[in-house]
Amino acid sequence: MASVLVTGGAGYVGAHAAKALARGGITPVVFDNLSTGHRHNIRFGPFEEGDIRDTPRLAGVMQSHAVTAVLHFAASIEVANGEQSPAAFQDNNVAGTQSVLEAMRISGVKQLVFSSTAAVYGAPKYTPIDERHPCNPVNVYGETKREAERRIHDFAAAHGVQYVCLRYFNAAGADLDGEIGEEHEPETHLIPNALKAAAGRGGPMKLYGGDYDTPDGSCVRDYVHVHDLAAAHLAALAALEGGARALACNLGSGRGHSVREVLDAVETVTGRPVPFEIAPRRAGDVPVLTADPSFARRALGFTGTHSALEAIVRDAARFHAARWGMALPGEAGRS
Ligand code: UDP
Repeated sequence: MASVLVTGGAGYVGAHAAKALARGGITPVVFDNLSTGHRHNIRFGPFEEGDIRDTPRLAGVMQSHAVTAVLHFAASIEVANGEQSPAAFQDNNVAGTQSVLEAMRISGVKQLVFSSTAAVYGAPKYTPIDERHPCNPVNVYGETKREAERRIHDFAAAHGVQYVCLRYFNAAGADLDGEIGEEHEPETHLIPNALKAAAGRGGPMKLYGGDYDTPDGSCVRDYVHVHDLAAAHLAALAALEGGARALACNLGSGRGHSVREVLDAVETVTGRPVPFEIAPRRAGDVPVLTADPSFARRALGFTGTHSALEAIVRDAARFHAARWGMALPGEAGRS
């Protein structure tokens, strides 16, 4: 059975991708330093604890497991932390990616799928955003991911490596079987925070900015189901097998939903009100961010089947409700 290295495989999207690989008959070898990932997410293949900046260790793992490709998720991702600690972000996200590339060179691994982000685009000049949109990141997180993409591009051209950069919009939802889900600490993302408020844990949620130039005054985002993201990584590996050399693809549903619409969906799914208060705008938030996913559809067959808002919220709610002991409508008595 083929083996693929999954850096950051103990994290949110990485763990879902590891599960998708295992389901697809590929052994996911998780490489993670457990700085933010969770040991309980590592259950689909072997685990190698280590830091991506440790090139010899990374190369050793690639060789001992005879991996044929790398899915590179390991990164620092909290936007606010990047503003406070740019050097740490550059080190982990840029130098870390360079180290992954160098380990691939040492080990002769020729295929890479990189976990990138819509943050590489910065403030949208138009929406929906396609891949021709200029890349002018407006925060350190986006800068580091953009720089990592550049390094991958240059390295790939020089060393005959094939790659796909997947630019996620708003990753959300949870595993369809409820095995894995979003567990950031502290949690900053909208859907888990809204569910927390609905469950009565930690008081009302803050809705950042009620006066944007959008239909209901709250920000509009493109939420994409983590299951669909995971599937796109397998499709990217297949595209590389099929001869793709250098791709960057947006992964989004192509639909925008406001924060208020998300809160409505959480109320519908949980059958509970979501207590919230309007708070000042959050630094760096743009009013509207939506993807044009048509290139991903053509290049990867990406359809975003599970990315309807209510399906995303339902799967996230199931995951969190099980951990919090919160009953959901229609689930009473289920074993
Ligand atoms: N948001 C909010 N309250 C929260 C978390 C997020 O109002 O507790 C808003 C945020 O301002 C943005 C949207 O929800 O407009 C999505 O934010 P999230 O942090 O989930 O993802 P991002 O768009 O920052 O990647």
